[in-house]
Amino acid sequence: MQPVKEPGFRQSVDLMFNRAVALMDLPPGLEEKIRVCNATYTVRFGVRLRGQIQTFTGYRSVHSEHMEPVKGGIRYALSVNQNEVEALAALMTYKCALVEAPFGGSKGGLCIDPRDWDDHELEQITRRFAYELIKRDMINPAQNVPAPDMGTGEREMAWIADQYARMNTTDINSKACVTGKPLNAGGIAGRVEATGRGVQYALQEFFREPEDKKKAGLSGTLDGKRVIVQGLGNVGYHAALFLSTEDGARITGIVERDGALFNPEGLDVEAVREWINRHGGVTGYPEGQFVTDGASVMEEECDILIPAALEGVLNLENAERIQAPLIIEAANGPITAGADEILRRKGCVIIPDLFANAGGVTVSYFEWVKNLSHIRFGRMQRRQEEARHQLIVDELERLSADSGIGWQLSPGFKDKYLRGAGELELVRSGLDDTMRTAYQSMRAVWHARGDVEDLRTAAYLVAIDRVASSYRAKGL
Ligand code: GLU
Repeated sequence: MQPVKEPGFRQSVDLMFNRAVALMDLPPGLEEKIRVCNATYTVRFGVRLRGQIQTFTGYRSVHSEHMEPVKGGIRYALSVNQNEVEALAALMTYKCALVEAPFGGSKGGLCIDPRDWDDHELEQITRRFAYELIKRDMINPAQNVPAPDMGTGEREMAWIADQYARMNTTDINSKACVTGKPLNAGGIAGRVEATGRGVQYALQEFFREPEDKKKAGLSGTLDGKRVIVQGLGNVGYHAALFLSTEDGARITGIVERDGALFNPEGLDVEAVREWINRHGGVTGYPEGQFVTDGASVMEEECDILIPAALEGVLNLENAERIQAPLIIEAANGPITAGADEILRRKGCVIIPDLFANAGGVTVSYFEWVKNLSHIRFGRMQRRQEEARHQLIVDELERLSADSGIGWQLSPGFKDKYLRGAGELELVRSGLDDTMRTAYQSMRAVWHARGDVEDLRTAAYLVAIDRVASSYRAKGL
């Protein structure tokens, strides 16, 4: 049982917002304008399934239209409600501002457990929900562009894009009405991995800053760091996979719905994921220790804790027992405002959600641009880049031979250097740049201002300031 004083998700976001604006000099009217959610549309629709009409409830909330289109995912979960969708829409506003994705914030949700329905039924439900939103311009390339979130993925986005195209047969930009589509339906390389990849880039940037590491009592690189991941869904899986296979981190704990796995020697992320796909949970996985009370594993000693699933998993009830010196919020809102205060008091450094999981919307932005420009990234430059690199390699080899020095370029170097960047490389490069730049803008405020204690407040300050500037420029 959680104590009654635990604020809800939406209150938590408001409290965090208020803590930041208290340090700013915004006119009170503007402060209020930025904080409130502009509109939330609730729709109840029926679909004839299994011989009867089933009624579903869905939402699309628009938090801020200081830039359009507004952007944010659509979530399928039984826990979806208006407050949650509004909190998530607000986070989208700040997230987009922080990573300079030119969007306002929005979010949608459908109260449904996708596991209760088969593929064909889900398609009918998704198309009907999309129809309701499209006819009110709540899905539209210029106004409101959804994306995947919990419980949805490429498949749902493809259905939505197709539904929009059917209803807008002459819209040449119809594919840009939604992002996170499969590659063969107008998607972009690297979107599925994007949020997890962004978490990796965020941590890499953090570990480049000795002063920041010191605040968390950490040193060195990501190599050998002990990491506990809560939730091995799309985000948690990719973050854990890249951190362990590319940066040498050790995944010592994986917390899932049915329990947790713990192994101080490190778990094989790919193997655990395969096990979950086959068995529906981590129960019975042959390696490591299985812990029935999964959430308790978040309290184990580690270097980095990555909550990557639900909101509110770190709350007033367990915050005091958390030992991780560094937490990166791969999920939206995993730490309640109350827990945030406790953890900060304990000296824990928190890399906040609006930055940490912004990789998804960043690559969504690239996908939207790709759809509007109707050309794959790298298509014009790739071979030209390769040809120019080949010129240098040929010249070096000629000089080496002519001068009799006999230098040989190593084959590994040649292969890497001669390969022009395709879409995936460009997307990763753009994402890395975005995460580094955003981290630096947040960190600059954190270090420069004596009254800013933590990265979250710094992130909100940067984001709110940018939203305020857009409103001012609009003449509001
Ligand atoms: N649902 C993701 C998020 O919370 C992605 C949003 C998007 O790509 O528009 O950031």
